Amino acid sequence: MDITSIGRRSWVLVGVGAAGIALAACGGTKAPPEVRVATAAASASVSQTSATPAAPKATAATVASQTCAAFAQTVDPYVLRVVDKQRGLPADYRPSDLQTIDDRWAAPGFPNEIMRAQAASAIVEMLSAAQAQGVTLRIRSSFRSYAEQQRTFQFWIGQLGEAQARRESAPPGNSEHQLGTTADVISANSGTGWELVEQFGALPEGKWVTAHAHEFGFAISYPSTEAEAVTGYVWEPWHVRYIGKACAAEWKSSGLVLVRFLERLATAPAR
Ligand SMILES: [Zn+2]
Repeated sequence: MDITSIGRRSWVLVGVGAAGIALAACGGTKAPPEVRVATAAASASVSQTSATPAAPKATAATVASQTCAAFAQTVDPYVLRVVDKQRGLPADYRPSDLQTIDDRWAAPGFPNEIMRAQAASAIVEMLSAAQAQGVTLRIRSSFRSYAEQQRTFQFWIGQLGEAQARRESAPPGNSEHQLGTTADVISANSGTGWELVEQFGALPEGKWVTAHAHEFGFAISYPSTEAEAVTGYVWEPWHVRYIGKACAAEWKSSGLVLVRFLERLATAPAR
C-alpha cells in the first residue's frame, strides 16, 4: 500500500514486507506470530470463565469500596507509573505475570494477545460486558517488548521523518504497551475492517469504550485531539490502559488527561 495515497491518521494498518508486521498509530507493531507465540509460551490462558467473578455489574458505585490512593499503596508501582515521551521504562522491563488471552477476544489475524494477569482479566470482563450489550470489540494489540517497539519506531521514522513519527509512535522504552497493561481495542464496524482509525471514536463501539472503559479499570490515555498538547500523541480512542477500577473511576471523574492524573497521584500524600 502506498501510504502517501491515504490520510496520515488512517494508514495505521500497513503490511511490511514478508514479515507482515502491522503497525498502529499509537506506536504499535505486531511482531511476527512466531515471536509472539514464543513470548507467551510459558503463560497461562485467560478465558472468559477465568475472569474475576465479580459484582454482577461494574459501576462507579460498586468499585468505590477502595480508593485509588489505597490501591496505589498495594499494587505493583508499574501499574500506575507515568510512561510518556520524557519518562520511560528500562529496556529490560518485562512484567513477570503476562498471560495469554483467549483468541476469541482477538481481532482476526492478531492471535495470542498477552497482558498482565489483572489487566487480562479486566479486559475480558470489559469485552464480555460489551458483547452482552451487542457491542463487538476485539483486541488488536497488547503487550509489546522494548525490541518490538524499537522496530516499529524505526520503521515510522523511515516512512515519515522523525518529527511526524513521534506524534504517532512511541520511541522504544516510552510505550505504555511495554507495561503489559495496555491494549488497543477495535471494531470491525469502522468501514475499514479491524484497523485502528480515528473514526472508531465516533462509532457506537468507540463511544461505548469512552463511556464504560473506566468501569472495568481502564483509562483512555490519549483521549482527544485537544489532548495532544498534553500527551504529545494524536487522539487514540482505541488505546486503553489498566489502572484498576478505583483509580479509573477517579480518573474519569477528575476529567484529567491520564498522565496528569498519574502525576497527581504520585505526589499525593498516602491515606
Ligand atoms: Zn496503543
